[in-house]
Amino acid sequence: MSRLENFISRMTAQRDILDHVCAEVAKMEGLVLELGLGNGRTFHHLRERLPGRRIVVFDREVGAHTSSIPEAENLVLGEIRETARKFIGIEAALVHADIGTGYDDRDAVTATWLPDLIASLLRVGGFAVSGTPLDHPLLKRLPAPTSEPADRYFLCKRV
Ligand code: SAM
Repeated sequence: MSRLENFISRMTAQRDILDHVCAEVAKMEGLVLELGLGNGRTFHHLRERLPGRRIVVFDREVGAHTSSIPEAENLVLGEIRETARKFIGIEAALVHADIGTGYDDRDAVTATWLPDLIASLLRVGGFAVSGTPLDHPLLKRLPAPTSEPADRYFLCKRV
């Protein structure tokens, strides 16, 4: 599979999982946290799927398309490992983390802190959607609602 095909498959799984989860999140209280604004495509998608829901977005810097930049009060700049700590206990309904790099060694470093952080941000019954696996006793992996292969994008529920 070429990198282009792999990318398309990952984005298809991402979209399918986010669509599935947004229908569930719409029925529950709680913030949505977007870890990694990037170009803002998934922020834009979440905003469309969850109208009226507060979405707080984290990144090192703003590099998004102008149509997809959060309001200043919902944008947190800096290293997520540090900045998101202030939100621990917020009982978010959904945390979406798209901060994988495609490099196993770098993603292995992220895996040492990201699952714990996400578990402490979510309410019980809330959802984590991630581009990298989330290995944590409080994050129960769910089958991804997509026809793409299971390792493309990951869905967990906070137990
Ligand atoms: N989901 C986004 C979209 O649809 O446009 C793409 C996100 S992009 C793949 C990842 C973003 O996460 C980058 O903008 C990068 O700066 C940010 N990022 C990655 N690791 C980070 C960290 N540890 N702290 C802050 N930002 C981080």
